[in-house]
Amino acid sequence: MRDVTAFQKKHQVGEGTYGSVFVGADKITGEIVALKRINTEEEENGFPITAIREVKILKALHHSNIVQLKEIVTSKDQGDIPKNVFMVFEYLEYDLTGIIESPEIKISQDHIKSWSKQLLSGVHYMHVNKIIHRDLKSSNLLINKRGELKIADWGLARSWNKEMKRLTNRVITLWYRPPELLLGCNQYTTKIDMWSVGCIIAEMFRRGGLLKGSTEANQLDLIFRMMGHPTREDWPDIDKMCPLWKNFEPKNGEQVFPRRVREELKARLPTSAMNWMTPHAIDLIDSLLAHNPEKRWSADKALLAEYFFDNPTFKPASELNMKF
Ligand code: ADP
Repeated sequence: MRDVTAFQKKHQVGEGTYGSVFVGADKITGEIVALKRINTEEEENGFPITAIREVKILKALHHSNIVQLKEIVTSKDQGDIPKNVFMVFEYLEYDLTGIIESPEIKISQDHIKSWSKQLLSGVHYMHVNKIIHRDLKSSNLLINKRGELKIADWGLARSWNKEMKRLTNRVITLWYRPPELLLGCNQYTTKIDMWSVGCIIAEMFRRGGLLKGSTEANQLDLIFRMMGHPTREDWPDIDKMCPLWKNFEPKNGEQVFPRRVREELKARLPTSAMNWMTPHAIDLIDSLLAHNPEKRWSADKALLAEYFFDNPTFKPASELNMKF
């Protein structure tokens, strides 16, 4: 295992849950990398469990749309500075939230289509390999100067199989969290990630979050107002899957919201994006935002969406204009 002094440390780029992230340059090859420090001092049991998971999962995943973990390096004890462990990643210049929130950056429909397809390709690969990410959101999607999008931050990811009961329910950042999790389900599937993907694609068109709830109850309310209240015809298992549904189901005389996601997706768009939100783009987002996880599109199904075959057809990353 190499020592961290193999890299020339430059500035800090981010702050992670268990340590800071720095930019560094490999002293031999000159390659620019991101060094994520794993703090062990504050951990009672030494190495944080989320870091162990992240390393284990990333070592098994190799795909052009998943951030590459290149190596692990350590630093020696230096008097009062304890030994540290660093994860070394390929460096990516941007994250999708940053791009969406910078008004001076012009995003075209080519960017949206390409990044949606790249995101779905990475998600498809991880789901085929029986991994759920459990924290997909625009700030965890990194983009480099070559227009390549890569899924990052695997601290909440876990391997999954159909037999798993009692999975932890408090996963996925609120705005990207699907209704089954908000309704207390703990026997979920890879489809939880697909809801997040739907929110992210809509966010690129809108240049802002789709469902920006402030509490779990408020998030559910926003979902019901846009996607309608779930119905037993559409989601027969809802009671069995979601222990909290009985608290949220409209009672006699209470207003039942209809599904109006298609209208909502057409409204509140920047002028430039109005023509891009075609019926096929709406079909894709609407199908990813299905309440019933069994009906919600999987990544392989979404990759075959007509949207990707309509003109302008999907462009590879190398053809995107990245001169922001
Ligand atoms: P955590 O999971 O602990 O929140 P992240 O992996 O999301 O940590 O990293 C925190 C921040 O560091 C990110 O939001 C991003 O700004 C930056 N970062 C992480 N990995 C890279 C990378 N490979 N290239 C460039 N910046 C990165």
